Amino acid sequence: MLTCPKCGSRDVMVAPPNNYVCPHCGHTWEIGSVDSGWIEEEARMYKAWGELVDAALQVPDCEALARRVAELVGADERRARQIARRVLREVMEELRLRGMQERALREIERC
Ligand SMILES: [Zn+2]
Repeated sequence: MLTCPKCGSRDVMVAPPNNYVCPHCGHTWEIGSVDSGWIEEEARMYKAWGELVDAALQVPDCEALARRVAELVGADERRARQIARRVLREVMEELRLRGMQERALREIERC
């Protein structure tokens, strides 16, 4: 988790073109190579998003989805589950139409 080096706040935001900004104390600093891990992860996630959505629509199983996330995005287990829940919420309307909403909601709960 990225934190502000000045105040330790976790509400760090990206300020284009190449800075982080902390809305809490106003500190800004450059995005360094050490910190860019989660941005790369985001990029991989968006690349894999279509595939993850397809997987979620076929079988709305959070466990299986998290494994797929870990494979495609390279996230650790906790983060993979987080992303899996995000995917499931994203496709909830579609799942509702397919009559799988309740199952998906249970999956999100227990994931
Ligand atoms: Zn700060």
